[in-house]
Amino acid sequence: MKSLWTDEEAAAWRGDLGLRVYTSRLLGRDKSLVLHGGGNTSVKVREPNLFGDEEEILYVKGSGWDLEKIEEAGFAPVRRGHLVRLAGLDELSDPRMVNEMVTHMKRSSAPTPSVEAILHAILPHKFVDHTHADAVVAVTNTPGGEERIRRIYGDAVVVIPYIMPGFDLARLCARLFTEQAGPRTIGMVLMNHGIFSFGETARESYERMIQLVTLAEEYLTAEGAVPPLPGEREGVWERGPGGEGSGEAGSSLLISTIATLRRDVSRAAGAPMILLSRRDARSLAFARREDAATISQQGPATPDHVIRTKRVPLFGRDVAAYVRAYGEYFENHAPHARSPKTMLDPAPRVILDPDLGLITVGRRATDAAISAEIYEHTMDIIERAERLGGWRALPERDLFDMEYWDLEQAKLKKAGDPPVFAGEVALVTGAASGIGRASVDSLLARGAAVVGLDRDPAILALSGLSGRADFLGIVCDVTDEEAVRRALVEAVDAFGGLDMLILNAGIFPPGRPLGELPMEEWRRVFAVNLDANLSFLRESHPLLALAPNGGRVVVVGSKNVPAPGPGAAAYSASKAALSQLARVAALEWGKDGIRINVLHPNAVFDTGVWTDEVLAARAAAYGLDVESYKKNNVLRVEVTSRHVAELAAELCGPLFARTTGAQIPVDGGNERVI
Ligand SMILES: [Zn+2]
Repeated sequence: MKSLWTDEEAAAWRGDLGLRVYTSRLLGRDKSLVLHGGGNTSVKVREPNLFGDEEEILYVKGSGWDLEKIEEAGFAPVRRGHLVRLAGLDELSDPRMVNEMVTHMKRSSAPTPSVEAILHAILPHKFVDHTHADAVVAVTNTPGGEERIRRIYGDAVVVIPYIMPGFDLARLCARLFTEQAGPRTIGMVLMNHGIFSFGETARESYERMIQLVTLAEEYLTAEGAVPPLPGEREGVWERGPGGEGSGEAGSSLLISTIATLRRDVSRAAGAPMILLSRRDARSLAFARREDAATISQQGPATPDHVIRTKRVPLFGRDVAAYVRAYGEYFENHAPHARSPKTMLDPAPRVILDPDLGLITVGRRATDAAISAEIYEHTMDIIERAERLGGWRALPERDLFDMEYWDLEQAKLKKAGDPPVFAGEVALVTGAASGIGRASVDSLLARGAAVVGLDRDPAILALSGLSGRADFLGIVCDVTDEEAVRRALVEAVDAFGGLDMLILNAGIFPPGRPLGELPMEEWRRVFAVNLDANLSFLRESHPLLALAPNGGRVVVVGSKNVPAPGPGAAAYSASKAALSQLARVAALEWGKDGIRINVLHPNAVFDTGVWTDEVLAARAAAYGLDVESYKKNNVLRVEVTSRHVAELAAELCGPLFARTTGAQIPVDGGNERVI
């Protein structure tokens, strides 16, 4: 492991707190040191208060901040003297400890200090760094782990046996550190948890962390405890579910297998869940190990992962058995807890399956992505520990205490209602612009994970969407049935299924009288506006039927269905046929709980079709200025993509739970329609 410190980068940071931010970010950049909110850092600074009296302030990472992106505002300034006094108490509940920390901060708007703040306060060094380094936990989580740690580090570190984070850990460290620390001590290993380093400068403390973790890495390499090399994993990932390969049958079996699993998991969780699938070589190789069912069923690499991954993954697909086992685990341990506990939902957050690879589960797409990253590291840690002498996670009881920690239970109670489409998946066609793009925004705003399809490669880099875990853009020609099937596989791999389908893609050719309408143009318009939607409906039906809250389809029709215009024969006829197709689907699929409704927008001018010139020309043709032309309807209002998109999203929501087969205008009122 290399130090990422550079003098050029460091020069941009001012003062102790500035450099504390810099080296915290360096730790955060290396995922083998810290993952998602894991780890914490601090610096002790003497500063004057309002009255000019000097105080010693511990700037410690605030909860909810990620080291990789932390800023000065992410550090909570707590009066160190008070924290040190707290460490001397015999007993202090964790909620009271948090109260003491929060009421002794220098800035009322600061985040809640890390629960490890007291531990940082009692260490005498100016800078303190703490990580859950993969290499260190791979060594500690083995039989004889403590002896190995002492062999690796000698008197360079103080060794602390496992105890739950919070007040008890701080108190134990206060005692053991004084007993064990010597002149050569530069760090502290917490068994089955992680490692601390410290120093007088930000750089010294950070580079000692790198140095200590490197020693653990070198030890693992010397002992042959490296993760399996790529060559050892070859040839294991070609097989799909049930041994089928790719191809039409294989892909439809694959997506319905995953969507069925998602339905079962969502039922267990009591709410729709997102499932993220990884069928890469590493995940498949791990899930296909002969001992996978044993080594995966012990526990996480470090206790705070339990919040993200639950204690153990589901191995295979028997969700009901997992739920029963989880209930037993709760019943066994809850009576021994210090305070009454409320059972969390019993659904798994990680699933390992020899055919499906690694699947992670979350209420939001970001949660599933975080669990995936954590478990990818966990698989490596387990495999290294196995090669070192055997993977040994903490006993159930310790992990239960962490999963059901008062502080975590309090967070649950504080969390408000999730957004209406949390855990649900929507697919929008023609999503790069106009009504499609606006629908993506409306659905994301309601908490859905969204798959946007478009022929335009711009779909891959829509502003504000790239990099989001809850959006997947796919370039797809909707008239290509094979491309549609591939897109559904991608969607199901990303999010686990399909709950909502917004069929928006369509084309509007230039006006042309019937007498001049070539068959080729007629067919092209029908291929996009009608035939492509038949493939979408047919291919997505099995997925919509598995939607935990029932499938929903919104078809974007046109005012031209009830009130066609001259010169638009192909467009009007194709949209009329599409409406009829949607009505038949509503009749056929009602028994599957799928609702299908049609919107008929008119005169939506903020779409790709309408350039300023076209708009001016059309307005002139009616003898109107552009503004009057835009509002040429009964209500005299402009209709935008956003109006249509918001109604499309609402049609999928609970307001319309009893509505199917409806055709609803979004046109400001059209005299010919009314
Ligand atoms: Zn920790």
